Amino acid sequence: MPLNIPTFDDVLTAAARLAGLAHRTPVLTSRTFNDLTGAEVFFKCENFQRGGAFKFRGAMNALLALDISARARGVVAYSSGNHAQALAYAAAIKGVKAVIIMPRDAPELKVRATRGYGAEVIFYDRYSENREEIGGRIAAERGAALIPPYDHPDVIAGQGTATLELIQEAGPLDALYVCLGGGGLLAGAALAAAECAPACRVVGVEPEAGNDGQQSLARGEVVTIEVPKSIADGAVVTHLGAHNFPVIRDKVAAITTVSDDALIEMMHFFAERMKIVVEPTGCLAAAAVRSESQSLRGQRIGVIVSGGNVDLTRFASLIMAAGDKTPREPAMARAGPETFR
Ligand SMILES: *Cc1c(COP(=O)(O)O)cnc(C)c1O
Repeated sequence: MPLNIPTFDDVLTAAARLAGLAHRTPVLTSRTFNDLTGAEVFFKCENFQRGGAFKFRGAMNALLALDISARARGVVAYSSGNHAQALAYAAAIKGVKAVIIMPRDAPELKVRATRGYGAEVIFYDRYSENREEIGGRIAAERGAALIPPYDHPDVIAGQGTATLELIQEAGPLDALYVCLGGGGLLAGAALAAAECAPACRVVGVEPEAGNDGQQSLARGEVVTIEVPKSIADGAVVTHLGAHNFPVIRDKVAAITTVSDDALIEMMHFFAERMKIVVEPTGCLAAAAVRSESQSLRGQRIGVIVSGGNVDLTRFASLIMAAGDKTPREPAMARAGPETFR
């Protein structure tokens, strides 16, 4: 079956479906960050999205794209992260039955949150069982729709609405930085930016430990890597999706990487200076802008802050680690852009 690659029209359809259901999240700016980078930066804060991450957009759009009889048979997802919770939440809002397939050793908090949305949780053994197989089997048995976290046209189109809103609010951008896992958010962003801000360079950002997207863009085909080790748990994906790659190949200017240390510093900055809780994966794009700031001076830059779901104990211990390295006040307030490069 030929792939159904989403278009800008699909992003507009998603925006109409999501109106009044997904939050129109705030676009924040930081004078200090602008001073540090020499750029004018607009942060689209999806940590304030329903469910705490942009994933709600794609999950809800995919659910609303189902016809009434399909919705009645329910939806299935396999994920231990933000997508599972987003789909469970979207399904609860629409009164649709959701089955979420999670590893038996998933954090108790996540299991409870997913069940709290009324979803049925089915466990699998990460080491001996294949979640895709289980998902496929349960979907087939129940006639339910399997909604994957990124490799799906309606998921991509839904994620694109974050960029649509950002450009509507911030105006034309010279560049847009977007974190990259399987490519749902980045492909959606590229579709929206190509139409709304054609001069905007769209840049994907991966953890240094797993640059499969960068390799894929260079090679012109999807490259699969080992599961990378990074604190950016939302982006430790082994390969781009089949629906995501063609959009990224055609519309994304570059893919860059950042280190875990840079993510921790960025988390610290977000908390201390902007008073926002951002999960490590959510810091990828901003950290890249910080490290590439030399080439971005005087430009208008969009950054997608993708989510804020981080265990507070983990958040605190990561922040403590950054405390030693991050320049303190008043040094940061006074410093010019050169100081922190
Ligand atoms: C899922 C996720 C990502 C990666 O998104 P993809 O669509 O898989 O590229 C980034 N940040 C957060 C917070 C996420 O939940």
